[in-house]
Amino acid sequence: MTSNIHKIRFFRERIPSFECVPGCHDCCGPVTTSAEEMARLPAKSDAEHEAALAEWSCPHLGDKGCQVYAERPLICRLFGTTPRLPCPNGKRPEVMIDPRIEQQIHRFFAETRQVLV
Ligand code: SF4
Ligand code: SF4
Repeated sequence: MTSNIHKIRFFRERIPSFECVPGCHDCCGPVTTSAEEMARLPAKSDAEHEAALAEWSCPHLGDKGCQVYAERPLICRLFGTTPRLPCPNGKRPEVMIDPRIEQQIHRFFAETRQVLV
């Protein structure tokens, strides 16, 4: 658990940030995350989860975009920073993520229990 928290912090610090199209949420949808990251997100009811899933959306997506931006899961952070998860609107950081870090993140996903956000 503690080591997962350290890994999450390590990865967050190494995923490059970039500016999105204002208000865009084209890459949002149902995502999964670790228990540690889930614990930092506000709880949502079963009904809110079901409503989001019925629209193939995320329960944290609001009218003005992601409502949990500072604590959004790793997969949301990774989007647009690698040619394997390209932004459909052509946005990207100046320098894409280090492929070794990306690989480590995918290993982390495979090795930890991931739950639907
Ligand atoms: S990464 Fe691209 S698709 Fe996703 S929110 Fe940003 S601009 Fe929109
Ligand atoms: S957590 Fe935020 S960025 Fe990630 S899918 Fe949900 S609304 Fe989009």
